[in-house]
Amino acid sequence: MIKNVNKLQHIDYDKLKILIDNNDYLNFKKYLYSSNLFNINFSNNDFNCDTRKYKQIAKYVYLTEKKNYKRKFTDSLVYKTSLNIIDINNKIRDYYNWKCEICGINCFNNKNILDIHSKTGVIGMNNNVTKKDIIICCRLCHFNIKPSEHWNLDMSKTIINKIHYLRNLNKKPRTMRLFALKKF
Ligand SMILES: [Zn+2]
Ligand SMILES: [Zn+2]
Repeated sequence: MIKNVNKLQHIDYDKLKILIDNNDYLNFKKYLYSSNLFNINFSNNDFNCDTRKYKQIAKYVYLTEKKNYKRKFTDSLVYKTSLNIIDINNKIRDYYNWKCEICGINCFNNKNILDIHSKTGVIGMNNNVTKKDIIICCRLCHFNIKPSEHWNLDMSKTIINKIHYLRNLNKKPRTMRLFALKKF
């Protein structure tokens, strides 16, 4: 019991309760950004990310929403803020050079189109996430992993056009590529 109390002491449950009551997802997101959620260590093309704190927050929020407001998971603050949560500070995508592992495009100059797909979903995340638990992928590859589970990703035209543009760029010979880069 005492062990549990120690574990939970750095989470502001009063604040979380207010955010849940108000269904305030923007400030919930801010709270996640401000709290020191993940401790990530990199080594030899792999990493260890301690996700216990986030999981405790997510579980508490989700269960409280479900109990008090009967919110579905897809209406939950947790779900609404889950995109790329594991890489909230961009450290992982930085380490792997902003490249889509599936189609190979480089998203360094278009960081908003590169996602991190969690193979187990955010609630089912391991306490210690490593490279094998995730896929770094562009929005389109992300969606195509399992469309039925990714219906709420932002698939706006600007994003999709940008991905097609970068894929085409990869296909062109080097001189053409330089020309295209100069032009845009
Ligand atoms: Zn891709
Ligand atoms: Zn995903």
